[in-house]
Amino acid sequence: MFKVKLDCLENRGQIATGDAEFCALCKGVFNQLSKLADEGDKQVWLCEFCNHKNEVMIGPEEVPQAPEVTYILEAAAQVEQLQEETKQAAAQQTDTISIVFCIDISGSMSGGMRLSTCKTAVAQQVV
Ligand SMILES: [Zn+2]
Repeated sequence: MFKVKLDCLENRGQIATGDAEFCALCKGVFNQLSKLADEGDKQVWLCEFCNHKNEVMIGPEEVPQAPEVTYILEAAAQVEQLQEETKQAAAQQTDTISIVFCIDISGSMSGGMRLSTCKTAVAQQVV
């Protein structure tokens, strides 16, 4: 058993507008260190992780300005609702804890009923 400090999750850092730009090949994310180039009338990003040339349309205001950037993936209303539920849950507990489940979904789990058994066990713990 080990303890993981998750208070860094409370500090959201810079909130980015728009969607994150993912590399089409490796799914790496366009970041503060990424370089844009113009090729004719096209804007390209040469992925610094896999060297794949991605055709992008990224405005200057969309270039991340900090080493850590938070992208909002859910609509604001859902986030507010989730935050309210989280506050209510926290109010019910005097000592809040976080439990992280790490599930191996690699090929070794495909034999027999391993993965489905694991999913069932985790679902029973969460409910
Ligand atoms: Zn890439």
